[in-house]
Amino acid sequence: MFDGNDLSNMQLSKLQKTVAYVYAMSPFYRKKLDAAGVRPEEIQALEDVTRLPFTTKEELRDNYPDKLMIAPERDVVRLHASSGTTGKKTVSFYTKKDIKDWGQMMARCFHMAGVGPQDRVHNTTGYGLWTAGVGFQLGIEALGAMAVPVGPAPMDQHIELMVDFGTTVLASTSSAALLLAEEVQRRGLRDQIKLRVAIIGSERWSDKMRDKINNLLGIESFDIIGMTELYGPGIGLDCHYHQGIHYWADHLLFEIVDPITLQPCQPGVQGELVVTTLSKEAMPLIRYRTRDITRLIPGPCQCNSPFPRIDRILGRSDDMIKFRGVNMFPGQVDDVLNKVEGVGCEYQIVIERQQGKDIMTIRVEAEEAVDPAEFEKLGAKVQQLYKTRIGVTPMVEIVNHYELPRSEKKVKRVFDQRNEELATR
Ligand code: ZN
Repeated sequence: MFDGNDLSNMQLSKLQKTVAYVYAMSPFYRKKLDAAGVRPEEIQALEDVTRLPFTTKEELRDNYPDKLMIAPERDVVRLHASSGTTGKKTVSFYTKKDIKDWGQMMARCFHMAGVGPQDRVHNTTGYGLWTAGVGFQLGIEALGAMAVPVGPAPMDQHIELMVDFGTTVLASTSSAALLLAEEVQRRGLRDQIKLRVAIIGSERWSDKMRDKINNLLGIESFDIIGMTELYGPGIGLDCHYHQGIHYWADHLLFEIVDPITLQPCQPGVQGELVVTTLSKEAMPLIRYRTRDITRLIPGPCQCNSPFPRIDRILGRSDDMIKFRGVNMFPGQVDDVLNKVEGVGCEYQIVIERQQGKDIMTIRVEAEEAVDPAEFEKLGAKVQQLYKTRIGVTPMVEIVNHYELPRSEKKVKRVFDQRNEELATR
């Protein structure tokens, strides 16, 4: 493969090419580079990337539908779009080579998870405009494994297909995987399921949730990352050591910046992930602000992969909760719950304002075997640990197992009711 030096050299030469390309082909980027006073030939070292302007999600939306597509129309073979919960959809375009690169990155992910041509992959993610279904499909086929392209379907159908075809790999979101795992346990079908690996992506999930999915299904799960703007899922995956996510640095240049000052963070320090595409032809992006909060993990991984790592995604900068002057992310709640035995992985955070004071309540499920008489003691434990680690004291309410809602879609966990109260006053 390549060592660190080869990788940096390759990144620099691809960065120079990308900047020259967007300057020549994209009126949008030419204007931005001119405004920032940078000429493509001034990019002489990797650090020079910090001289380039950022690209934001708002700019992507402002240039809807296809103003950021810069490859000639005859070379563009596909588009994908994200659901666009707020405002217009975010669109991404692909040339034949972009699709090939994406398939190879996806195949690398499967390979890192120990999946090979002899495997059958049950894909529960949605096919269509969304990148997940077809993205996984590309990787499965590039790898030479067999795809079972189910997409979202009734639970009975998922289970029947898995049993009948002896599927060995599951590709899904974490909420869908948890639903499936709980259902397999409820029906006592674990012995009839041949799953050994799950590749799980599209939303942040905790170690506790991962352990639960692994234990219920008797499998090893891997965390896959990606987003529509950057191909789709498959731009990185954690290896068997599960100490952070290896990302494909030959195609993508990652930086971590402070989300407020936008200055680069030191390796190891948490901040916003900013990505520059190094290979993309149809719609390259320069210093795209992903809004994801993570950190670069310095040093090599025990697996000896030449690919660098970031930490698992802690949250999105938009999800940051400001509570009594402290900035928090839902991922920190996961961290606390991971350390307390007896509580499950399902939780909600409710923030209200009562008599001018902000009150935070964490509602968390107990594990199935825990006696309700222990709930109070368990709650006190969570509260104490939260206070020690994060510096604020929440109310903690322990509820019964299965009491909190589950969904195949992303689960809403944070209910900040402070603004709603202001609005109704
Ligand atoms: Zn590794």
